[in-house]
Amino acid sequence: MTARILNGNPIRDQIFAELEDEIGVLAGEGIKPGLAVVLAGGDPASQIYVKSKIAACQKLGLASYAFSPPATVQTGELLAIVEGLNRRDDVDGVLVQLPLPPQVDAKRVLEAVDPAKDVDGFHPLNLGKLVAGRAGLVACTPAGVMEILRRSGIAIEGANAVVVGRSDIVGKPMALLLLHANATVTVCHSKTRALAEVVRGADIVVAAIGRAAMVQAGWIRPGATVIDVGINRVTDAAEAERIFSGASAQHAERLRQFREKGSVLVGDVHPDAAEVAGAITPVPGGVGPLTIAMLMSNTVRAARLRRGSSLAASSAGRN
Ligand code: NAP
Repeated sequence: MTARILNGNPIRDQIFAELEDEIGVLAGEGIKPGLAVVLAGGDPASQIYVKSKIAACQKLGLASYAFSPPATVQTGELLAIVEGLNRRDDVDGVLVQLPLPPQVDAKRVLEAVDPAKDVDGFHPLNLGKLVAGRAGLVACTPAGVMEILRRSGIAIEGANAVVVGRSDIVGKPMALLLLHANATVTVCHSKTRALAEVVRGADIVVAAIGRAAMVQAGWIRPGATVIDVGINRVTDAAEAERIFSGASAQHAERLRQFREKGSVLVGDVHPDAAEVAGAITPVPGGVGPLTIAMLMSNTVRAARLRRGSSLAASSAGRN
């Protein structure tokens, strides 16, 4: 079996098109949603992420504001920036790009974000709302996974879903969203025993581990849906050769890319799983585009709710 590829790009485009309509209605009410992004320090990966978030705002006609304090920034200075953004009426979403420099108390900074502007969905109040199944702002990556599943017609109700990873930003909210959609959910982590066997029982597997190609093809039940959240940059030639040792044209192409650039992006799921799964997200181009789409969606939603748009009522329970 060769899996159906769940390409995230057309789903992102569909969500963008829907958002453009909403943004048009808001413009008619004199509302231009705005996103503020705070990037402390010069981490190259974070810079790329922030650039693509700002580019998405520009594409959709949202206002965007970037703040770049140096890597030496202290907790108090970041708190002052966040509190200033909380007070600004033209800012609907406040995003503090992670990771923060080691001297910064990241939890304190994230908790300082006004929950009504918490477009990352990381604030304990929004996490609590998610636990209780109440409308709030939901973390973008797991919300994006739900969009992939729903818009691809994958049955969730009654399915056995296994989430590998229990981080606050991906694994835990993912498990809650699947639970609210009536899946039977198992959450695995580094202390889980017989992980392969647990994964083999899944109709839907979500891998959010941060370890290149860890979930093997042999762990996947034939026909299962596999959502690969992982984004790992492999720079070791032997590792790249091992991961892409299969005879397929795709494997040969990925190895060619590695030789050209000296690195290749690999998910948490081994690429050979595509031979066993019924449907699978690619890396790159699967979950990644949805994370940005849901950030835009959360920003528009925060604007509607906070500024009392006539559209606000229709946004309730849209998780
Ligand atoms: P994280 O905070 O490092 O959490 C990783 C989770 O995986 C932890 O719960 C950990 O278990 C578990 N884990 C680690 N090793 C394991 C093992 N050998 N067996 C079973 N479980 C294991 O990572 P994260 O922030 O959730 O991100 C996960 C991945 O998603 C990363 O590759 C990240 O780059 C990617 N990501 C992608 C997007 C996107 O837009 N596509 C967005 C966010 C993250 P313990 O809790 O026991 O330590």
